Amino acid sequence: MSHPRTAVVLGGGLSGLAAAWELARAGVEVTLVEKASELGGLAGSFEREGHVYPLGYHHILGRDRVLLEFLDRIGALPRVKWRRVKMLFRVREGLFDLGHPLDFLRFPMSLADKARFVRLMLRAFFKSDWSDWNERSARELIDGWGGPGVRAAIFEPLTRLKFELACEDVSGAWLGARLHFREGSSAFGYIPGANWTQVLCHGVEKLVRDAGVRVIAPALLSRLEAESGRVVAVHTTNGQRLAADVFVSTVPTEVLTRLLPDEAERLAGVRYSALLSVICSTRQPLGREFYWLNLPTLDRAACGVFDLTALNPTLSPAGERAVNFVTHLGGRDRPLFALSDEALIDRYREDFATIFGFPLEARWWHVARVAMYSPVLVKGYRNPPVRSPRHPNLYFAGNYRTFPSIVSTGTALGSGVETAREVLAAGGA
Ligand SMILES: Cc1cc2nc3c(=O)[nH]c(=O)nc-3n(C[C@H](O)[C@H](O)[C@H](O)COP(=O)(O)OP(=O)(O)OC[C@H]3O[C@@H](n4cnc5c(N)ncnc54)[C@H](O)[C@@H]3O)c2cc1C
Repeated sequence: MSHPRTAVVLGGGLSGLAAAWELARAGVEVTLVEKASELGGLAGSFEREGHVYPLGYHHILGRDRVLLEFLDRIGALPRVKWRRVKMLFRVREGLFDLGHPLDFLRFPMSLADKARFVRLMLRAFFKSDWSDWNERSARELIDGWGGPGVRAAIFEPLTRLKFELACEDVSGAWLGARLHFREGSSAFGYIPGANWTQVLCHGVEKLVRDAGVRVIAPALLSRLEAESGRVVAVHTTNGQRLAADVFVSTVPTEVLTRLLPDEAERLAGVRYSALLSVICSTRQPLGREFYWLNLPTLDRAACGVFDLTALNPTLSPAGERAVNFVTHLGGRDRPLFALSDEALIDRYREDFATIFGFPLEARWWHVARVAMYSPVLVKGYRNPPVRSPRHPNLYFAGNYRTFPSIVSTGTALGSGVETAREVLAAGGA
């Protein structure tokens, strides 16, 4: 079958890399444009004293089929180790591990609601297709399958933490798919002696370069040029004009609509949450073993604290642990997002002292601000189409298109591959 001769991929995160690779290995001449000097986007890394850390907590999910396929393709799958980690919930009464029978019994919720919670989790586990919940809310799902008591004790605080929204306003399909994945109770994967996201990004970048993709990075896209209903070229701020037959956008939809305002109408419904991820290194024991500590009391700056070394003990130098404070914000206009690094770190220090009862002594800090992290998955959220109805040679990939699935490295890779296959299936542009 004929296929377009040339393509430009916008964005060098995992969805852009996967799209570029799939197109290039089918014989398309591909150029990929990324604003950062390193490829990988949200799955990127930073280095401190010879050790490489992810920008924020990242674990491999055993059900993330496409991620496992890519890890296998780059030869890293045999290095993956699996570990059951502890996930804690902080409520007024203290810290609870809901996976532990004694803690579950002690958790401040009636016995009847605990039984309803288990029923909800079991029903969600056995349901894989959530499309019938697309138009319904998380509130309907929890009240129907669990009960209002379960919602009030567990899910209202969690949806507020994640999106600053009540269950009423959050998509039922999204929550159902998340519960189906059982992220909290399955073993998580990591690669000993490495930061696995760096292994993945480097491995996929090598696939892409070996397939002949031309990578332009760093280069900030400034504009898409359209003519007679087709995109003809992209422009970068350093004056490059890149023409092609087809264009695959993997940048957030809010970025794309700035580059090509004609697309705004269709993509306006996708609103992005923001995220703060701050990592520090400490030699202090934390006094409580956990990987993931949820803070649904909603009285702290952080939504969650992760001890990254509890999953991968080799991430930090021996005797040190990497502690990751994470805050989800309804949007990048929230005051916390604009705090200086020092002020933000002070807020997280306060959180730490309140939770653990002693002051945090950190050797270094790293602050990452993600202005557009994930679409806010409101009730009624729908994926934008894979191909623009207005500009038929413009295609979309990325995690704003993988609803209601959990947002992950694997879904990003999968979305890139799927979109590239649509491009190829459409034939000669
Ligand atoms: C804190 C955190 C924790 C996570 N935890 C996990 C986990 O445990 N497990 C898991 O599998 N996944 C996890 N994820 C999700 C995973 O990292 C993402 O889903 C995935 O990396 C998204 O890839 P993407 O290509 O769709 O988007 P992005 O990575 O956002 O890629 C978009 C790219 O476009 C570029 N771009 C934007 N604007 C422009 C422009 N104007 N010009 C040029 N380039 C531009 C960006 O720089 C970026 O590289 C986590 C993410 C975060 C942030």
